[in-house]
Amino acid sequence: MEMNVVILGAGSHGVSLAYHLVKKGEKNVTIVERQRINYGSSGRNAGRFRYHFYTKENVEFAKDAIPYLLQLCRRLPLNPICMRTGYVWVLEDQRISEVIKKMDSLWRSLGVGGRFLNCSELDYLKSESECYLAPQDGSFHHDYLTFGMLEDIKNSVKIVYGDANKLIVSGGRISGVRIENNVINADVVTVTLGAWSGKFMAENGIRVPIEPEKKEIFITEDIRYRVKPLVITPSTYFSHTLKGEIIGGVEDTRERGFLDLDVSLGRMTLFLKDVRRLVKGAEGIRVLRGWAGYYEMTPDHSHIMGYSNEWPEGLYIDAGYSGHGMMFSPYSGKIMADLILDDEKNKFIDVFSPDRFNLNRLIDERMVI
Ligand SMILES: Cc1cc2nc3c(=O)[nH]c(=O)nc-3n(C[C@H](O)[C@H](O)[C@H](O)COP(=O)(O)OP(=O)(O)OC[C@H]3O[C@@H](n4cnc5c(N)ncnc54)[C@H](O)[C@@H]3O)c2cc1C
Repeated sequence: MEMNVVILGAGSHGVSLAYHLVKKGEKNVTIVERQRINYGSSGRNAGRFRYHFYTKENVEFAKDAIPYLLQLCRRLPLNPICMRTGYVWVLEDQRISEVIKKMDSLWRSLGVGGRFLNCSELDYLKSESECYLAPQDGSFHHDYLTFGMLEDIKNSVKIVYGDANKLIVSGGRISGVRIENNVINADVVTVTLGAWSGKFMAENGIRVPIEPEKKEIFITEDIRYRVKPLVITPSTYFSHTLKGEIIGGVEDTRERGFLDLDVSLGRMTLFLKDVRRLVKGAEGIRVLRGWAGYYEMTPDHSHIMGYSNEWPEGLYIDAGYSGHGMMFSPYSGKIMADLILDDEKNKFIDVFSPDRFNLNRLIDERMVI
């Protein structure tokens, strides 16, 4: 059956869904975006991937999603430079050290165990404390991932610029969506609005617990490329870009909401202090620029995908990935396309269902980086 599929939001999740729908032969795909492609978190993240989560559910999702990402990287017309550069936790804090020790046994049981070592074995770090190296994790370039998928399907999707504000429902089914003063007819509407997803759904009378939390990232001037892994300290995280800059941010939590996207001097100083303290050769390094974006937070820090039987038929969601949605976007787009076109329910659709909040089946993910 011919369907009109409208995707709200042109971040990595919206574009990935469009990519997978087109690859499966769907002809009528429209993406709606009110700013520009990758305006949201998809253009503002750190471009890292990992297998190492607190919960079995998210590790298992990553075990399917990361190989899928790496495979897609090789197929796209633009190269997102996906590399296994690793993650390193600097275990300076007793509490974090204990958590990682506990996590290592779960990770080992799931086949993604890492290695404890003295940080001084890593020739770019000045710390003598214990470190944990997870070599399976890595990095990629987020813009090239989204634009690579888009480049491949650009002649087969329609992009409409405007503010999506109202779902049109008739007889319990989605029949369209209002974009400013126009209505686009739709059999299926998918909400991939990132941090804006909860707000959009609430404005349409549907409660989906996704809230924005502002985060900042900074980039230094170049020094010699050495810090391959993402280094995670008790208060910051950082890594080298291939060009030689150090990119990273501060680990903190703030009040939820759409706070302004300015960067703060306090956080910049904290980031810089840790980089200067820990990275060999970075003693006098300065910050060149910084930016802010929103994590899309759910009560259990895990994403929401699929649909609810309580919703109008034809309404789907794929959002709420806190700080790890970029790496998962290729695989999530595939799962969603299979669900929408073929009614094929991947094993993760029930696990990450929007109904889990009412059914008290929360996932308890605590490793938000
Ligand atoms: C500082 C930071 C660091 C991060 N680091 C990583 C990382 O290292 N690895 C990782 O995997 N993830 C990371 N993330 C998370 C990741 O970036 C996001 O989870 C992911 O990009 C979400 O993609 P999305 O397509 O769902 O949403 P977005 O990219 O936010 O896209 C949503 C789009 O919807 C549009 N929109 C909003 N409302 C409307 C409307 N009413 N009508 C039309 N369009 C609308 C917006 O303009 C936006 O373009 C990070 C995030 C931040 C903020």
